[in-house]
Amino acid sequence: MNNGEGKGDGTKVVGAGRRPEWTQGIVNPPVWRASTILYDNVAQLRAAAGRDTHHRLFYGRRGTPTQWSLAEALTELEPGAEATFLYPSGVAAVSAALLSVLSPGDELLLADSVYDPTRSFATGFLTRFGVTTRYYDPMIGGGIADLIGDNTRAIFMESPGSLTFEVQDVPAIVAAAKAHDVTTIIDNTWATPLLFPVMALGVDLSILACTKYVVGHSDVMLGSVTAAPSHWAKLRDTSFALGQTASPDDAWLGSRGLRTMAVRLKHHGAVALEIARWLETRPEVAQVLHPALPSCPGHDRFVRDFKGSAGLFSFVLKGGTEASRAALIDGLELFGIGYSWGGFESLAIPIDPQRHRSATKWEAAGLAVRLQIGLEDSADLIADLAAGLDRFRATT
Ligand SMILES: *Cc1c(COP(=O)(O)O)cnc(C)c1O
Repeated sequence: MNNGEGKGDGTKVVGAGRRPEWTQGIVNPPVWRASTILYDNVAQLRAAAGRDTHHRLFYGRRGTPTQWSLAEALTELEPGAEATFLYPSGVAAVSAALLSVLSPGDELLLADSVYDPTRSFATGFLTRFGVTTRYYDPMIGGGIADLIGDNTRAIFMESPGSLTFEVQDVPAIVAAAKAHDVTTIIDNTWATPLLFPVMALGVDLSILACTKYVVGHSDVMLGSVTAAPSHWAKLRDTSFALGQTASPDDAWLGSRGLRTMAVRLKHHGAVALEIARWLETRPEVAQVLHPALPSCPGHDRFVRDFKGSAGLFSFVLKGGTEASRAALIDGLELFGIGYSWGGFESLAIPIDPQRHRSATKWEAAGLAVRLQIGLEDSADLIADLAAGLDRFRATT
């Protein structure tokens, strides 16, 4: 085991979370399955009920070394963090993070570019729970101070935004929030702490849909919330109260995926950027929405705050019809058609961001497509997309 301090990303993810008492000499922490934990006697059972169950066997719902190891690894990757709680999906992580800070009567500020199920949780469940939500322009930056009112309890960011990839000014939003004692939460699934360590910038709660890059193989649902010291107790107590627990098998696959995440991210990022630049040269493409390209809203913030880019981005076609966009996507040989991302296989989906907006209007020159770039070779993916754009042109 190494604690990775001052080391590179690859070294960090290889060593993270591997406490000898949890691995017992096995390289990757094994699966410890449990519901019942046995005690030697009644006195021991009673003593266990009164102590802090963090990193202690108590009852299966509170986890075993398998989950603790992954949670601790994710904490180690986020300098300034206190601890991490695991969830059975990214959406479960989003809802637990929000419920750990919000009470009836509170107001939430939510980025208009947020992942759609997060928006649905706010408009549905939180409304019923007595929390009001105001949506803000993801480009707002320090201007968010003008939206903070007496009841504003939390600001939820996602950067870059889902589908449209606007980069938020996280330091400016955190500064405004801190001045008004408002909690900041970020969905950091795209960048992960390797490309964007947000807790060092003062964010209170950082969410990952581990389903994506941590797991990395499109076969497990898993989420996490990493908390600053000031927010850990509330997050843990709320998550325990909600009965949240991630299965040891899924956490084990998460740990296994994590060991290669730095290498995978480098490949995803490099090939995605190469393809994004190539798409910019194509006459059928009106705009490429990729944070590392100067044309992306918030690109200057990306250059300032991020250590690199990931493998997910979108592009806008010049015009097009539903049928011509479908012709592009349907004929792709190497890109699967399906939701989620972060796995080894490339994916393509049609997107219609204007349907998920309320504070801002999303307008573009044509129909749009989102690409998840997997671990295939760039030349093969480019050839596949070139044929797709030919089909698009032929049917438009
Ligand atoms: C996929 C995703 C989620 C939800 O994760 P699940 O594990 O699918 O529930 C949350 N946020 C973002 C940005 C995502 O892309």
